[in-house]
Amino acid sequence: MGSYAKIDEEAFVLPVLERLPAADLVHLRGMPLKRLETYVVEHGQKAFRARQLFAWIQERGARSFEEMTDLSKSLRQFLSTEAALSAIAPKGAHHSPDGTVKLTFDLHDGAVVESVVIPADGRVTLCVSSQVGCAMGCQFCRTATMGFVRNLSSSEIVDQVAWAKQIWESHTGSHLSNIVFMGMGEPLRNYDNVVEALQVLLDPIGLNLSKRRITVSTSGVVPILERFGGEELDVNIAISLNATTDAVRDELMPVNQKWNLAELLGALRRYPLKPNRRITFEYVMLAGVNDSDNDAKRLVKLLHGLPSKVNLIPWNPFAGARFERPDRAQIVHFKERLLAANVNVTIRESRGTEELAACGQLGEPSKAAAWREQHRDSRRRGLEQG
Ligand code: SF4
Repeated sequence: MGSYAKIDEEAFVLPVLERLPAADLVHLRGMPLKRLETYVVEHGQKAFRARQLFAWIQERGARSFEEMTDLSKSLRQFLSTEAALSAIAPKGAHHSPDGTVKLTFDLHDGAVVESVVIPADGRVTLCVSSQVGCAMGCQFCRTATMGFVRNLSSSEIVDQVAWAKQIWESHTGSHLSNIVFMGMGEPLRNYDNVVEALQVLLDPIGLNLSKRRITVSTSGVVPILERFGGEELDVNIAISLNATTDAVRDELMPVNQKWNLAELLGALRRYPLKPNRRITFEYVMLAGVNDSDNDAKRLVKLLHGLPSKVNLIPWNPFAGARFERPDRAQIVHFKERLLAANVNVTIRESRGTEELAACGQLGEPSKAAAWREQHRDSRRRGLEQG
């Protein structure tokens, strides 16, 4: 835990939001400055008002329009009937003995989303979700068992950061330093909302997070990855790789049946990486599946010439899964094979496994199923009435 203040779990009191604003209000939390300017001008205000509003929301973390005392009373009144500052509401904080905290949030439609704060190695990383559930079907991933529920809006994504920042910083005095899009969902399948959320997070008059401290992870949706490379965002990218042959990757990650290893690696070789940046490859280690010496050899070959670093992630078990985690000696041996070939590699110690907060473990399948059922019923009722 290094220099972080010890968390007194009893004192980890969550802010209370009396009720979530209605979904049909204009949600400002995830609105980039440019769009906010258009919004205020369309409502008869000068463009500079947008900068004031943006700074209140992002920099100062305002949760009510009343506190924005440098805006006129009439504007504040107008905004409080028409717009909303909170898109999600804190629901719970689950502490793991290793210091990791899983935060859960209620959404306006009854769904629940999760983010994880991970203090380690002098950093505090927040892992955010981009979707409720996920459609990608990766076999080793607990979120996949939920299926896809829905995309999160840019406000629902940015609000995970805003709440987590407020909750974490008020309890520990230390700052969130890094953001990774590695929670529930495939970020590139929720493209527009993720890009807008990134624009807000990177804005110098907003949260002003460094491009180098934000990472978007993908399972390898190649055409969208290529489009993402064309955005002026320059955030880090991580690829969830997990296999060194198409046969194994086809089996583990259905996305590979569409865009295989050659296509994925080809796109990464063309990716417009800035100087001194590397692509992170996540490699979830599964005993007897992808942890052999031949896998290590093939991995070296696949990454040859690519500025890269590899994170080996010992698989995190969950009920009903058919995999096993390799023993420690095998993981270390695999790492040494890569090191011997000059691959930049670390073993990413799994944190938060006790609270199901580690990579690929987010999600509450039974709740997702209940949510889908409830919404199927209401849609059916709507159809019957209509
Ligand atoms: S690993 Fe990521 S992309 Fe794959 S199913 Fe899980 S959340 Fe989705």
